[in-house]
Amino acid sequence: MTEKTNNTHIAFIGLGNMGGPMAKNLLKHGYNVTVFDLSEQAQQQLADAGANTSSSPQEAVKGAQVVITMLPASKHVKTVYLGDAEANELTSQGLLSDLPSGTLVIDSSTIDAAEARKVAKIATAKGIDIVDAPVSGGTAGAEAGTLTFIVGGEDSAFNRAEPILKAMGKNIFHAGSSGAGQVAKICNNMLLGILMSGTAEAINLGVKNGLDAGVLSEIMLQSSGRNWTLEVYNPYPGILEQVPSSRGYTGGFMSQHMHKDLHLALQAAEDIGVEVPMGAQATALYDEHVKQHNEKDFSSIMAHFDSSVLNQS
Ligand code: NAD
Repeated sequence: MTEKTNNTHIAFIGLGNMGGPMAKNLLKHGYNVTVFDLSEQAQQQLADAGANTSSSPQEAVKGAQVVITMLPASKHVKTVYLGDAEANELTSQGLLSDLPSGTLVIDSSTIDAAEARKVAKIATAKGIDIVDAPVSGGTAGAEAGTLTFIVGGEDSAFNRAEPILKAMGKNIFHAGSSGAGQVAKICNNMLLGILMSGTAEAINLGVKNGLDAGVLSEIMLQSSGRNWTLEVYNPYPGILEQVPSSRGYTGGFMSQHMHKDLHLALQAAEDIGVEVPMGAQATALYDEHVKQHNEKDFSSIMAHFDSSVLNQS
């Protein structure tokens, strides 16, 4: 357990694959952290690391100067900040109704830019500083504290958020005003979905032609097919250690989240009449894939080409 050396009190809501390790890094930097998640097990892991736990988002934010959320999708962010009468009773009242002015809100979930702007408008009207700050770098980056934060919001809110984000990340970009972080993030993830699908397709072509997946990966890594998925997140089991494909596609970035991000990108493109044919192809693959593999890491798209990989790790 780390001694609390920083007077800033942070409420952290959403302790999943990403939020859990991110909150742990705030504790390591001496912040006073109070957590909330619908999962008691997730809360217990943070309690073991030295966080205060709470029984609702409202209780978590009591006395906090900063609120950070790391939730699955737009609807969860909307429920937590704006409320939702049909939601779980713990989250039925939105936080923005009673957060004091002067609070800093950082939402690191990947959500619809329009939804991020809507929440930001309501927060700003109440004197709350707010940034959208989605991340890149995966669970390994969350654990190592090396995430890339892509931030949208006013300069004043960005300046307040930056030192806190540095406790969880290495590269902090200010992409522009509210929602800009989300736009940059979905451009990145559309490309990631395309790269992961293309890498899986290429490896499968080689393997079905008698090549060894590891040898082929190494060749492409040292050739012009080199990309992030080959380098640090190979979708074929047993090539890289400590990646989801080598542990049954568990942990990591769930296919349902990649599917959500691809649809956010397609929607953003449709809204302004921009063509995204490669993004549309990757989306079609994930549309099929999530029917059976919603909770498996997104690299399990490998199984679309070769279902035997599901039994290899
Ligand atoms: P996750 O599904 O593992 O975790 C989400 C957590 O939020 C869960 O623990 C869930 O219980 C909790 N939650 C849901 N609704 C809640 C509520 N109303 N109140 C409190 N807690 C609630 O997801 P994740 O992989 O940690 O991803 C979180 C966000 O980060 C997503 O938007 C995802 O797209 C994005 N992201 C993920 C990765 C990755 O590699 N996993 C990388 C970059 C960005």
